[in-house]
Amino acid sequence: MLTEIINSNDKKAMLRAAELIKDGQAVAFPTETVYGLGANAYDGAAVAKIFAAKGRPSDNPLIVHIENMNMLDDIAVGIPDDFYVLYEKFMPGPLTVILHKSKRIDDIVTAGLDTVAVRFPRHRTAAELIKKSGCPLAAPSANISAHISPTTALHVYNDLNGRIPMIIDGGECSVGIESTILDLSGDTPTILRPGAVTLDMLRKVLKEVTEIKKTVHEMPVKAPGMKYRHYSPNAELYLIENADRGMTVYDAAVSEGKKAVLIAKASNVPLYGGRNIFSIPDDSKGYAKKIYSLLRLAENDADAIVCEEPELSGSGCSVMNRLLKASIRDDKSPCKK
Ligand code: AMP
Ligand code: MG
Repeated sequence: MLTEIINSNDKKAMLRAAELIKDGQAVAFPTETVYGLGANAYDGAAVAKIFAAKGRPSDNPLIVHIENMNMLDDIAVGIPDDFYVLYEKFMPGPLTVILHKSKRIDDIVTAGLDTVAVRFPRHRTAAELIKKSGCPLAAPSANISAHISPTTALHVYNDLNGRIPMIIDGGECSVGIESTILDLSGDTPTILRPGAVTLDMLRKVLKEVTEIKKTVHEMPVKAPGMKYRHYSPNAELYLIENADRGMTVYDAAVSEGKKAVLIAKASNVPLYGGRNIFSIPDDSKGYAKKIYSLLRLAENDADAIVCEEPELSGSGCSVMNRLLKASIRDDKSPCKK
């Protein structure tokens, strides 16, 4: 299959993208979090193409992306008041909520669960594609299963060229990590996956919010996808707390004959003189935006990636959640909350 890349500002091409969706194909599109691979959430055969293109296990459910409240009423039932509070404050945006599903959503989307994950993406192109297609889009991240999520159209192309008919190029994603997932289907709102909308932000608007503390291997069946290893680069990833440790781990990898790359916060770069370095912003938002791109660059260049941890504030905790799953770490100081 030929994979065409179109520009999100090309109105005619955007109409063709919507035609592909209506025709039961899967199309990659930008969102503010990461690029998604979308198909009509009401069409089981179309959604099956997403799983096939990514090599995604069938028990890992997808997020349904919508653009207006009518779509929400079509896919979810028994919507709690908390949803509307969150809608006012955070939607559209990088927050996914788990609700009880309606019969219209195909079982393949939810991996047989009686709940559905829903998000209103903020990215103009994502909203435009949903609107022009006239249906909710079931969409996971547009990468080969278990690889790093894509934050540019080129990342998608590198993973899925020949497997999907079209990629919409809308530039670099502004958030850079996957959405926060908040379960609203039980008694207490529970964060299943941290993201740019943090626990502190949610606690300011909801009476009660809790978070799942279990490790990736102990996730309950409630979030089946979470048992899989995610976000992994095709190289060893060492997560380090400070520059001294970074130099030690880097030099040890080199002395073992490995090609090594350091991902260092901008303010620390001068400390690493002479080593192979990629610089990442110090602030946690900037770090989140760049980390996946740099991991993809580094994996092309090296056998060992030595990466400085993000600041553990705001989005930094959510990035740390991803990196811990992908890395070999010196010690196990968790993200404290
Ligand atoms: P991705 O977009 O690739 O990050 O994948 C979506 C993730 O959303 C899955 O891996 C699941 O962890 C989560 N998810 C989707 N639907 C549900 C659901 N009904 N209940 C809990 N988690 C879900
Ligand atoms: Mg994914």
